[in-house]
Amino acid sequence: MATIISGTQISKEVRAQLGEEVKRMTAAGVRPGLAVVIVGNDPASKIYVRNKHKGCEELGILSEVYELPETTTQKELTDLIRHLNGREEIDGILVQLPLPEHIEEKEVIEAIDPEKDVDAFSVSNVGKIMVGEYSFVPCTPAGVMELLRRTGVKIAGKACVVIGRSNIVGKPMGLLLLEQNGTVTICHSRTENLAAIARSADILVSAVGKAKFVTADMVKDGAVVIDVGMNRDEDGKLCGDVDFAAVEPKASFITPVPGGVGPMTITMLLKNTVNAAKRRLK
Ligand code: NAP
Repeated sequence: MATIISGTQISKEVRAQLGEEVKRMTAAGVRPGLAVVIVGNDPASKIYVRNKHKGCEELGILSEVYELPETTTQKELTDLIRHLNGREEIDGILVQLPLPEHIEEKEVIEAIDPEKDVDAFSVSNVGKIMVGEYSFVPCTPAGVMELLRRTGVKIAGKACVVIGRSNIVGKPMGLLLLEQNGTVTICHSRTENLAAIARSADILVSAVGKAKFVTADMVKDGAVVIDVGMNRDEDGKLCGDVDFAAVEPKASFITPVPGGVGPMTITMLLKNTVNAAKRRLK
C-alpha cells in the first residue's frame, strides 16, 4: 500500500505560509500583485483564470483580470503587456494559454518583462533553469518538486524517469530533478522500450496526457509515482495518466488525480508572484 501524497493538503500548508508572507510584505508597503490576461472564451481557460483570481484574493495578493475579446489583435495584446510591464504594483503577468490562432504565442510570451514572467515560459527564464540561476520555475514542475520535498522523498542518486518532454512540464521537470542530483531519463513518443525504462525508476513522473498510460507492469516495487496527467476517463471523470488502482499497491508514494499535482500548480503561481514582489522590498 502506498502513502498518498495529498496535493490538496500540501497546497493548503504552502498557501497558509504564503498568506503570512503576503501580510508581512503588505505591512511593509509591498503588496504582491498579479495580472492575468485571457483572450477569447475557452471555457477551461476561464475556469483556470477564475481559480487563479480566487487564489490571489484568499492570500491578499492584488489580482487584476483582463478579459479580452477573441478579436483582439497581436498589437493590442502586446500593448497591454507593455503597459503592465511598466506598472510598479504588478509583480507578475500571466497570459492564459492557448491563445486564438491569429495570435503568435511566442511573441506574446517574450513581450512579458522576464522579471514578471511568473509562468517562466520565456526563453530567458527557461535558459536560467538550464544553468540553475532561476527566479521562477514553471508552476507544474515546481509543484511536483514541492510535493517531493515536503514528503521527504530523497532525490539525490535516485533513478528518475520523466515521461513527456513538453517545454512547460517534461523538460523543466527533468532539469529540476537533475539539479537535485537525480539520475534523469526523459522519455517521449519515440522512446523505445519505454516500459522497461519506466520500470527502472525510483521516481516516476508521468506527463503524457493519456488515461491509464502507466500500467502496473511499468512500475518498480516501492517506486514514487507522480501523476501530472489531467485526462477524462470513459465516464468523463477527471483522471491522470496512471492506472491508479493497479499501480497504487506497488508504489511507496503516489499522487492521486484529482487532488495531487493539480492543486499545487496555482499555489506555485502564487508563490512565484510573492517571490517576484520581493525585489520591491529591496
Ligand atoms: P504535451 O505538450 O501534449 O506533451 C505530452 C508529452 O507526452 C510529449 O512530450 C509526448 O511526446 C509525450 N507522449 C505522448 N504520447 C506518448 C506515448 N505514447 N509514449 C510516450 N510519450 C508520449 O502535454 P503537457 O502540456 O506536457 O501536459 C501533459 C499532461 O499533463 C496533460 O494531461 C496535461 O493536461 C497535464 N497537465 C497538468 C497540469 C496540472 O496542473 N496538473 C499542468 C500542465 C499539464 P512527443 O514530444 O514525442 O510528442
